[in-house]
Amino acid sequence: MINLKKIPSMDEILMQEEIQGLMERYKRDYVVDTARTAVAEIRAILRNMNSEIEQKAILTSIINSIKLKAEKTDKGTLQRVINGTGVVLHTNLGRAPLGTRALRHMNEIGRSYNNLEMDLETGERGSRYSHVEDLLQKLTGAEAALVVNNNAAAVMLVLTTLAAGREVIVSRGQLVEIGGAFRIPEVMKLSGAKLIEVGTTNKTYVSDYSQAINEATALLFSAHTSNYQIIGFTAEVSISELVSLGQKQGIPVFLDLGSGIITSLLPNDLKKEPSVQECVQAGTDIISFSGDKMLGGPQAGIIVGKRKYIEQMKKNQLLRALRVDKVILSALEGTLLEYLSAHPEEGIPINKMLIAGQEEMKAKAETFLNILKEELRDLPVLIRNESSPAYNAGENMLVLQVVALEDMVGGGAYPNHKLPGAGVELEFKGMSLEQVAAKLRQGSPALIARRQDNKMLISVRTLLAGDELEIAAMIRDLLLKSQPKDN
Ligand SMILES: *Cc1c(COP(=O)(O)O)cnc(C)c1O
Repeated sequence: MINLKKIPSMDEILMQEEIQGLMERYKRDYVVDTARTAVAEIRAILRNMNSEIEQKAILTSIINSIKLKAEKTDKGTLQRVINGTGVVLHTNLGRAPLGTRALRHMNEIGRSYNNLEMDLETGERGSRYSHVEDLLQKLTGAEAALVVNNNAAAVMLVLTTLAAGREVIVSRGQLVEIGGAFRIPEVMKLSGAKLIEVGTTNKTYVSDYSQAINEATALLFSAHTSNYQIIGFTAEVSISELVSLGQKQGIPVFLDLGSGIITSLLPNDLKKEPSVQECVQAGTDIISFSGDKMLGGPQAGIIVGKRKYIEQMKKNQLLRALRVDKVILSALEGTLLEYLSAHPEEGIPINKMLIAGQEEMKAKAETFLNILKEELRDLPVLIRNESSPAYNAGENMLVLQVVALEDMVGGGAYPNHKLPGAGVELEFKGMSLEQVAAKLRQGSPALIARRQDNKMLISVRTLLAGDELEIAAMIRDLLLKSQPKDN
């Protein structure tokens, strides 16, 4: 308690040279607010302290705390993260990183006025929905297309437009929840459509759908179960079976594809999921998918299908609340334009990551190891070699080794599919892996890696150009700071 009286007054704090310096950069009110928070925190610490502290030391710690807080806020909370997890579409890490063309287009359109809603040929008012429609038609073969905020919004718009107050038939095996609490039954309720469940969790037949059809039926709905797999004794109705039932009964079929793929470039084992083109060809009336999953673009919900249904959706008032802006549309257009190029895999980062085979990943991991070796050459670091498994870490702080890894597609796609990859294993000595991981996570940029037993694993599949050098510098810094002092 003796220390509390020594806390300087707000006026005195604000008069300090360093705080005056902050006021030249930031609004006065913000600095004062920050100072109050800092004082309150220090007051709480001092209250629980028995030993006496010098007044000067109290003032210094208040000033430092204010500066730290201001610097931290100034960085913003949204930060760059290096993805060392090998999960290509990591929802917590922002899903697909954008390609150069998307970014260039977004920058040009974002910083200027543009023809978002103007037809430059006639000078009349145009529609924002016209912009990527032509490209989506070309790429998917669909009659018409519409883009909204995300796929959840797309599903909502389709159901509200075509099925509000009526019935939608869906298989019990597809009543999915997708990360972030997107539950088909809940969305259905919100849209005002009545869910008619048919079949069982593991088996649903065409006859289950046909028996449920009546005058109130508005849609046959199929959700791609992209984030889980029911394996074993199962039966699902294929999209073409559903389409032929729908055509016979005059009821449209809506497919929520989730992670829509628009490329034929994927390695064979990733082709088992149907592409958007294939679903259009099968005659599906309406298909929706995300812009930032397998497509590799910005967050968006893309709806493609028969013109008469898309036109109905364009007239729905709800669309106004779900519409995308110039920034998203330009990023999406830039991404879609890449799919017209002869080598989309070069322009779409996640495409490149998904295609890479294990040999390529091993070579990338060797290069990464060499970068680490070079950066840490004067530090006690041991490089292990697969051909000489026995080793003694001795006094070394870190043991490094190239290892084979299994990577994942992520984003709720290909739940059981492993991508054979590679990376570098880091075994820190005399440091808790917990603390090392926390330090790297709180670095700038942050690094998120994998962990296995007491080792850190950095997969190279999800590293972007230049990440390796930054990681090496971060690890150097970490080792220097935890090195035992000699004297
Ligand atoms: C991911 C996913 C969604 C939600 O898409 P968002 O773009 O994240 O809104 C909906 N349905 C399925 C099947 C999905 O996989």
